[in-house]
Amino acid sequence: MTGWLSVALRSAGAVAELKKDKASGREPQAKKAAAEGEGEIWVVIEHEGADAAPVSWELVGEARALADELGVRAAAVIIGAGEQELARKAFSYGAAASYLAAGPKLGAYSADPHCQALAGLAARHKPQVILLGATTRGRDLASAAATELETGLTADCTELKIDPEKKLLLQTRPAFSGNVMATIITPKRQPQMATVRPGVFPAPEPVAGASGEIIASKPRLKPTNVSVKQLEFIRAPKDEVSLQGAKVIVAGGRGLKAARNFALLEELACELGGAVAASRAAVDAGWISSQRQVGQTGQTVRPVLYFAMGISGAVQHLAGMQASDIVVAVNNDPEAPIFEVADYGIVGDLFEVTPVLTEEVRRRKAEAGADGGLRIEKSARK
Ligand SMILES: Cc1cc2nc3c(=O)[nH]c(=O)nc-3n(C[C@H](O)[C@H](O)[C@H](O)COP(=O)(O)OP(=O)(O)OC[C@H]3O[C@@H](n4cnc5c(N)ncnc54)[C@H](O)[C@@H]3O)c2cc1C
Repeated sequence: MTGWLSVALRSAGAVAELKKDKASGREPQAKKAAAEGEGEIWVVIEHEGADAAPVSWELVGEARALADELGVRAAAVIIGAGEQELARKAFSYGAAASYLAAGPKLGAYSADPHCQALAGLAARHKPQVILLGATTRGRDLASAAATELETGLTADCTELKIDPEKKLLLQTRPAFSGNVMATIITPKRQPQMATVRPGVFPAPEPVAGASGEIIASKPRLKPTNVSVKQLEFIRAPKDEVSLQGAKVIVAGGRGLKAARNFALLEELACELGGAVAASRAAVDAGWISSQRQVGQTGQTVRPVLYFAMGISGAVQHLAGMQASDIVVAVNNDPEAPIFEVADYGIVGDLFEVTPVLTEEVRRRKAEAGADGGLRIEKSARK
């Protein structure tokens, strides 16, 4: 690719890197492909300065698994002001290399320069797959870069696999309003590109001291394309409780009947140190903020404990919560589909059942003493 200037240099050779990798506790990754970077699985790290979006690390873990299957390297792509610490952090999550594209116009996210940088890197190093988070920014960048690279893009994947024969990326996502799961391939173009929603894959445990190769470059951007000037960055107010990190989620649906009844769920969530979420029906009714919506068009969550209170269990809702460790459903309809995915089902009126559950948790905490005796840990079951 013309217009690219490689400035920084690779660290020690592949063999040395493999040894270091072993020392750090990870299995060694496959040797580099013949052309530098060719055939790698890339993840674009979404970040604000040194703060990366958790989905990026989730994807690095998944990229590593896919790369191991193909016998290639997983690599992180960090477009910004030269955030070396992120490049190193990517190694701890499983990347064998980090492409660091830096420049004055790349410090703050803007679609056009970031697209030029990513497309330029891809044209030069020829990865076979590029993954991005299906966040506002990831979607923006992925679509622009796929257009630039004249390749296919599958948005909002919920599963990624490698076709064992053709070695193509199988990109699965809900289609037709979530009624079918479609598996999409990009057989004729490279790189194969996909976005994946936050929370779909678990983030791997970081391995301290893992090492890798940093490949730094300063992309030359076409000035005519840099049409947006950032005047100020204003961080959106954060929702008080993050659904992504919550170990316990108490979610309510249309069965709650009114906004004020979410107070019942707040109480239970508060006792369990959890967060309140909702189905789309409750959000559409205006009872709760859309930031709390779980499902196909909301958030994907994987808590240890998920309460579905007055939620029927439509496929679009299940798409966002069925990876939860334990699902407890309370519904007055014994035929409600939520019971098919529930580990514990209570057929009953949530207005009677919820206060009893809250009281029981309170009682057990009091019995157990000051620390509450509540230990909610991830199991290896799902
Ligand atoms: C393209 C598309 C995307 C979508 N994305 C999402 C999404 O991201 N998330 C999402 O949730 N939905 C989504 N939906 C909507 C989804 O199809 C369902 O309409 C929605 O999940 C239903 O919400 P609900 O279960 O709260 O309501 P309902 O289906 O109306 O269920 C309410 C349940 O409450 C029970 N109930 C009523 N009273 C009580 C009581 N007193 N005690 C106990 N139980 C009671 C009822 O038996 C019933 O099962 C999407 C739909 C489409 C077409």
